[in-house]
Amino acid sequence: MIDRYTTARERMVQEQIIARGVSDPRTLSAMAEVPRHLFVDDAMRVRAYGDYPLPIASGQTISQPYIVAYMTQALALKGDERVLEVGTGSGYQAAVLSRISQQVFTVERINTLLAAARRIFDSLRYFNIVAKLDDGTLGWPENGPYDAIIVTAGGPEIPEPLIEQLADPGRLIIPVGDQNVQELQLLTKIDGEIRVENLASVRFVDLIGEHGWRA
Ligand code: SAM
Repeated sequence: MIDRYTTARERMVQEQIIARGVSDPRTLSAMAEVPRHLFVDDAMRVRAYGDYPLPIASGQTISQPYIVAYMTQALALKGDERVLEVGTGSGYQAAVLSRISQQVFTVERINTLLAAARRIFDSLRYFNIVAKLDDGTLGWPENGPYDAIIVTAGGPEIPEPLIEQLADPGRLIIPVGDQNVQELQLLTKIDGEIRVENLASVRFVDLIGEHGWRA
């Protein structure tokens, strides 16, 4: 998609993402394709491709571009996966995932955010994203198992329902820690075995729900 932000988007990919070591071609092409400026308020558009998270409605955030790319690359998508996202927020991360997987299921607990994200998915004709309002710490059991699961809010532990709904083989990425700082954890399930590895320190908004923090 060519638009007035194409150059800003290409620079974002070069200077913030490739320069920091993200190299997966699929992730890079999705980041270069998705019009990030459409996922923020009009007044914020000129800052949409900056090297930082930005506020969205309801006190939530759209993650820094580099973090979106880093988490996307960690899922090692090849194109035929079913992906679950917990924390739709602006819808940007789901949009990036939708370019390089078969289907994205995304769950958000705040209705105004979900409604806005759905409108953008429709306007971009990203028809392989399905979104629902719910507590995403419970997953979305009807559509599982998922080849990849991404949680874009920080919780005290990896929610058990998400581990259960992860396919074998499968990869799950989630920030785990306290409400100030978390470790980005990558859980892999292979031949029934579960391995968890810490990737980086991050700071996300709270994952609120039955297997997260209390509201
Ligand atoms: N992925 C988003 C994006 O691309 O804009 C960023 C998400 S923002 C950092 C975290 C989101 O997780 C917020 O919108 C918040 O409402 C949502 N959230 C927190 N707990 C949740 C839960 N249990 N289920 C679903 N969404 C949740």
